Amino acid sequence: MKEWEKNVRRVNPYIAGEQPQEDNIIKLNTNENPYPPSPKVKKAYETTQVDKFALYPDPMSSELVQALESYYDLKRGQVFVGVGSDDVLSLSFLTFFNSDVPILFPDITYSFYPVWADVYRIPFECPPLDDNFCIRIEDYKKKNGGIVIANPNAPTSIGMKASQIEEIVRANRDVVVIVDEAYVDFGGETVLPLIERYDNLLVVRTYSKSRSMAGMRIGFAMGNEALIRALTDVKESINSYTMTMASIRVGAASLADEQYFQENLAKVVTTREWCEKELERRGFFVLPSQTNFLFVRHEQISGQELFEKLREQKIFVRHFSGARIKEYLRITMGTDEQMKAFLLQLDKILEKNIDNKVHL
Ligand SMILES: *Cc1c(COP(=O)(O)O)cnc(C)c1O
Repeated sequence: MKEWEKNVRRVNPYIAGEQPQEDNIIKLNTNENPYPPSPKVKKAYETTQVDKFALYPDPMSSELVQALESYYDLKRGQVFVGVGSDDVLSLSFLTFFNSDVPILFPDITYSFYPVWADVYRIPFECPPLDDNFCIRIEDYKKKNGGIVIANPNAPTSIGMKASQIEEIVRANRDVVVIVDEAYVDFGGETVLPLIERYDNLLVVRTYSKSRSMAGMRIGFAMGNEALIRALTDVKESINSYTMTMASIRVGAASLADEQYFQENLAKVVTTREWCEKELERRGFFVLPSQTNFLFVRHEQISGQELFEKLREQKIFVRHFSGARIKEYLRITMGTDEQMKAFLLQLDKILEKNIDNKVHL
């Protein structure tokens, strides 16, 4: 080992879902929205003044922050924006989790949490979800250095009631509780109104799923002014200019088209409800979803095999290797057309791999 290698920070990075660059694939593996963003976003992007790119953007992203404050009816200083919610969450870990006592998050949840904990040297513990993949609230009533909960959870798609989260927040007034609401717009219960009552609650959201803007990298946190100030101080100590001029503009524009947003959400939810029934008809066990994806397993064909067979047909879904979830696939809702093509291929695979065996 070279001398300098001894001082390298070693981490096991998060492995993002594949982003295959070919056409003619059906991409149901990273929970993107299959529909484009609002036409108002397109207009804002196209009318962005490129000559201004010569200057640095507004370090406070005021246009976007104020649009979010007014959209969510919040006070000045209760919103923080970042480069996707991954950036916001990562900065939140760095800002709020500085205790020697382990932070807590479930054994099955967004797999970036243990990566950030590792890279920032934050000790952590992962209380197991129960057999139905639900959080046991009692597990979060022990001493800890902070808590992170994705609600609805990924990759399980299951949501908790706001009152259950509140019980956890109330039992943990001495630490910061981060609630990652990446999927809440698709039917989850938000805890946003609770930020007025609990100064230790931070709610994190993203434009990547419900607002069809994964490519623009916009995420935000909402919480008590002191939490937002602390986050801002840490961000200002790393990079003053995180948000580009274009993302500030299009982020604000998206909020100005509520009708498009609601219609977009409704389409995804309708597809999800339809797909859930279609999958159940084909012998799948489908967890109850409050997100834009379904988490499913089949009794007679393994998660790995199904993943590979679909991939051969250029249909990309997500498969995780964790012991408790390796028989499951996480399937993002695409357009109805994409989901029909997916179900058609699924039928072919199931016919070949199951019916034969059953009828033998
Ligand atoms: C997708 C996702 C994120 C990250 O989204 P960004 O694209 O970085 O905004 C964060 N948390 C969960 C649970 C997610 O599924």
